[in-house]
Amino acid sequence: MSNCLFCKIIAGEIPSKKLYEDEEILAFYDINPMAPVHFLVIPKKHISNLMELEASDAALLGRMFYKAQELAKEQGCGEKGGRFVINTKTDGGQTVDHLHIHFLGGRALGWPPG
Ligand code: 5GP
Ligand code: ZN
Repeated sequence: MSNCLFCKIIAGEIPSKKLYEDEEILAFYDINPMAPVHFLVIPKKHISNLMELEASDAALLGRMFYKAQELAKEQGCGEKGGRFVINTKTDGGQTVDHLHIHFLGGRALGWPPG
């Protein structure tokens, strides 16, 4: 997608602080962290949001979550945990229309969300 911010990050047109990259997945720190540890895991394939997931994307989403928990542990959050979040469309507060898992950790997080 030519006008997608995260596709531009994948293409290297916009810089990011990368944590992990392979042929299918990119992980990088959120530019506006909401917790001491806050990174995003995205598919390199442009999928606008979770509602657009196709059956053939299920394994990719599984890999994204598997990598997210590995990275969370690497970032020191294995013991206390944190939150894996996919904000989806308008009511979910999604601001970038390219599927992404947030991981937030390093502090106690409130619930329910506002
Ligand atoms: P959403 O609100 O869609 O769930 O999350 C989008 C996230 O992308 C936000 O937490 C926001 O801070 C982050 N973000 C927006 N633009 C950039 C950017 O240019 N670089 C990085 N690293 N994160 C970004
Ligand atoms: Zn995109």
